[in-house]
Amino acid sequence: MTPDDRVYAYSAVLMGSPILLKLFEHNESLASGVFRLIKQQENIFTVNRPHSDIMAINHAAGRDPVTVSAPVFALIRRAKAISCLPDSSFNFTIGPLVKRWKIGFSGHSIPAAHDLRTLLALTDPQDVILDEQTRSVFLQQAGMEIDLGAMAKGYIADVVRDYLREQQVESALINLGGNVQTLGSGAEGAWAIGLKKPFSDPEALIGVINVIGKSVVTSGVYERYFELDGHCYHHILDPKTGYPLDNELLSVTIISEDSIDGDIWTTLLYGMGVKKSLACLAKTPHIEAIFVTRDGQVILSSQRQFTFTPLDDSYRIVA
Ligand code: ADP
Ligand code: MG
Ligand code: MG
Repeated sequence: MTPDDRVYAYSAVLMGSPILLKLFEHNESLASGVFRLIKQQENIFTVNRPHSDIMAINHAAGRDPVTVSAPVFALIRRAKAISCLPDSSFNFTIGPLVKRWKIGFSGHSIPAAHDLRTLLALTDPQDVILDEQTRSVFLQQAGMEIDLGAMAKGYIADVVRDYLREQQVESALINLGGNVQTLGSGAEGAWAIGLKKPFSDPEALIGVINVIGKSVVTSGVYERYFELDGHCYHHILDPKTGYPLDNELLSVTIISEDSIDGDIWTTLLYGMGVKKSLACLAKTPHIEAIFVTRDGQVILSSQRQFTFTPLDDSYRIVA
């Protein structure tokens, strides 16, 4: 029996992504419990269907405050705080721009400059009014839309981890389409998570990241994009310009305890670029990053929480 023979894999397609659960026991009912939980969470956060807790807030923009559950309120409070940081490239009120570009969906197109200006005026996170007493969220301007797409998968990965822990599971891995969270160790001591080679076949890897009980989240420009006139328009937008963020980065991977941190930090650092990010990470020991740049470098911020094994000679490892 090889170590991998002990691992049972369960898969589903949820939140528009392939979902993979790995357990060390054959347990269909536990796997169904996990997938049910993910569906419940998706129903709260989705903005790709007419009804969800977030869509209720968006539909009431410019009109009424909407009361939400305590966890959703806490998540929105955090999203606002991060979006309001000086020079933050994370903006959870980016919804009108995301809906206009439709990147990764059919009907995508480049908005006219005047459209972008109009839509950018609807993306000020200070225009989201939170009332702690009533746990209500009010979007002050009609047409505003919140979009938690940059943090929801991370949050849900942590919800799944906590659920598995409650079920006395000691080792497991959940992959929510690029957001990986792990519990304990894998078959060979640590969980092995592939770092994808940008714009290649889906199986091609730059290297392998090994973690025990950590989250690994990657956000890359090659995940969802469209090409027009030789230019690649990807799905992480610059809240200042309304265009996709454009710098030396092809992907950012975050290794952290909680997957929500990983999800938020990939977007934050993506906008900062490598130099500023490394300075920032030097002050944030619980967050570690791997950057893949357009000129073929793999830059590691530090390696306290993971090990990295390179697999592709065409990349230069900078540690
Ligand atoms: P995924 O893991 O699904 O690729 P990311 O975590 O990389 O998603 O976040 C990208 C998603 O977040 C976009 O699809 C969009 O819904 C939203 N988004 C795009 N730009 C920003 C931004 N600057 N700040 C916050 N959310 C954004
Ligand atoms: Mg993210
Ligand atoms: Mg994500």
